Amino acid sequence: MRLILLGAPGAGKGTVAKMLTDIDGSVQISTGDILRAAVKEGTELGKEAQGYMERGELVPDSLIMGIMEERLQQDDCKQGFLLDGFPRTIPQAEELDKLLDRLGITLDGVVNLNVPREVILDRLTTRRTCEDCGAIYNVKSNPPKVEGVCDKCGGKVVQRADETEEAISKRLDVFNEQTAPLVGYYEKKGMLWDINATSSDEVVKIIKEKLGIA
Ligand code: ADP
Ligand code: ZN
Repeated sequence: MRLILLGAPGAGKGTVAKMLTDIDGSVQISTGDILRAAVKEGTELGKEAQGYMERGELVPDSLIMGIMEERLQQDDCKQGFLLDGFPRTIPQAEELDKLLDRLGITLDGVVNLNVPREVILDRLTTRRTCEDCGAIYNVKSNPPKVEGVCDKCGGKVVQRADETEEAISKRLDVFNEQTAPLVGYYEKKGMLWDINATSSDEVVKIIKEKLGIA
């Protein structure tokens, strides 16, 4: 499958993407995970991106497009991919259209995960992430078996630097201003699947139905 996952921070893009990769071997491509790995490794890209990320701002489009152009041409994408956290702005969406054209790739659809704001705020403040594999936990509803240790890879499970109350509120503002307009962009193209996303299991079920793999 080839899908874009749209939705506010905390809407469950990462969780849904991980559930979908298990179905047909499509890969999850999370620009957030790629950037966090670059910051951790201290690469050039990481150094450029770090400040923006900690403030809850978007990293410049040119950096992101460079990452994606390279990533989408890697072999594992042939099986399909789930774009998680990209595109994030109208210019990124326009550039992506051109890039997919050049690569001869067609998307199945664009999933919009709709979640009420209260649910989003609660999820983000209780969310924890594995530093190594990006697995997502929740201190209330889905803690790791051993506190602070990833069930899947043994990595350290932490609260992200941009999950302070201040950065969360900034990320939600940035989402409303810069990313929410993508819903209209893809709706006009007739590509949008608008899904009520309070339950990730339900979302996966609906996506499978739409893809005809139920
Ligand atoms: P979330 O969707 O939970 O806010 P992500 O992990 O997708 O978090 O992104 C974390 C941060 O990485 C963003 O706040 C932003 O600084 C940066 N980032 C990720 N993807 C993009 C993108 N497509 N364009 C610009 N910045 C991005
Ligand atoms: Zn892990």
